[in-house]
Amino acid sequence: LSRLRRTEPSVRSFIHVADAAAEREAEELDRRIATEGQDAVGPLAGVLVGVKDNLCTANMPSTGGSRILDGYRPAYDATAVRRLREAGAIVVGKTNLDEFGMGSTTEGSGFQVTTNPWDDSRVPGGSSGGSASAVSARQCVVSLGSDTGGSVRQPASFCGVVGLKPTYGRVSRFGLMAYASSLDVVGCFGSSVVDTATILSVIAGHDKMDSTSSSHDVSDYKSELVPLDLLESKPLNGMRIGIIQETLGEGVETGVISSIKDAASHLEQLGSVVEEVSLPSFSLGLPAYYILALSEASSNLSRYDGIVYRYGRQVSASDLNELYGGSRANGLGHEVKMRILMGTYALSAGYYDAYYKRAQQVRTLVKESFKEALERYDILVSPAAPSAAYKIGEKINDPLAMYAGDIMTVNVNLAGLPALVVPCGFVEGGSTGLPVGLQMIGSPFSEGNLLRLGHIFE
Ligand code: GLN
Repeated sequence: LSRLRRTEPSVRSFIHVADAAAEREAEELDRRIATEGQDAVGPLAGVLVGVKDNLCTANMPSTGGSRILDGYRPAYDATAVRRLREAGAIVVGKTNLDEFGMGSTTEGSGFQVTTNPWDDSRVPGGSSGGSASAVSARQCVVSLGSDTGGSVRQPASFCGVVGLKPTYGRVSRFGLMAYASSLDVVGCFGSSVVDTATILSVIAGHDKMDSTSSSHDVSDYKSELVPLDLLESKPLNGMRIGIIQETLGEGVETGVISSIKDAASHLEQLGSVVEEVSLPSFSLGLPAYYILALSEASSNLSRYDGIVYRYGRQVSASDLNELYGGSRANGLGHEVKMRILMGTYALSAGYYDAYYKRAQQVRTLVKESFKEALERYDILVSPAAPSAAYKIGEKINDPLAMYAGDIMTVNVNLAGLPALVVPCGFVEGGSTGLPVGLQMIGSPFSEGNLLRLGHIFE
């Protein structure tokens, strides 16, 4: 907590810090341990977690990074948050994000700009930038984020921490503010694979409050992280790894490419077979993602209409149109408005076939090409982003450049697959160098395999 208080003025990971409440909860846990013994508290007793502010937390502000939800305090916890709390974890605050998860830098927050702990002139990535920077600056032990098109993996890469995007449906979305419901997943950050695995076992699993959550078995992922004796054996003998060819070409920083190639040869030395694999539909994923995500967003965000009974914010207005218009004009930021307009356009009767329907067809192609590749390879790897963290302000006025930076991650959401990002190298920049993340992609529900492989890089 003292580190959080010391670093927060420069990093600004949190929209809301609950340090005093966290201290009281910790004291209460200590008392229970003293009187009833360690078994009286959960396995995560006292572990400080940061929670992305688009996940609902009972009696704590939950803004989604949007001014339109300023002052909103949900009556309930998101399922992932509830499960962490039931295991004894302490929510130390709500982390900053691009408004409703729409962005890749966290500069799109309605509240504040978060800085990258490796270099405070740079962005932490986004949209879960606050959750990544909080773990990177060791302000909390682990954190929750959400990943619709890369929002856990890209900031993990920029901030040099571990980030996991689970299989679609692996973690309940109940209490997650919807951006694009067919792509959204709750993910997590840790400073190690061990911590990330520990958290996943707690938050994963079926939830009757989310009909899209899966009842597929949840493993004790941490106990499955067999310690590998790297020096004496070839622990990856027989494993087939495919490097996605399309992710090592034009537009990717050379330092990023060489870090990924170094990581691949490390995996080869440990006994795996590493080959380049082409996913021909890879570059189609980006435009398809932006059509589908924005279409779904335009529908999902219609709930923020300014009606006071819903989220407690009301402007004075003489009729309903003025109420809707006034609330949304004042409460929503520029990027969000632009996306609602584009999504509405793509869904409109005259353009539906040309945009939304075609994007859905592309989504099927992307899914199939991943499925085929994952029949030939156990794991696919790529960079998590085409560059390391860039400067604050560098892409803020160029949305297309920002969208282009999502090329490495969006396909995975279209296909619903799990992916893990682990730090694997550095490029020049800042005073110490800037971290680069390796993305590992697996078949549905192969989180255990991904974590075991990621563990090698610790
Ligand atoms: N940067 C992507 C977007 O803006 C992904 C965001 C996310 O995963 N929430 O849509």
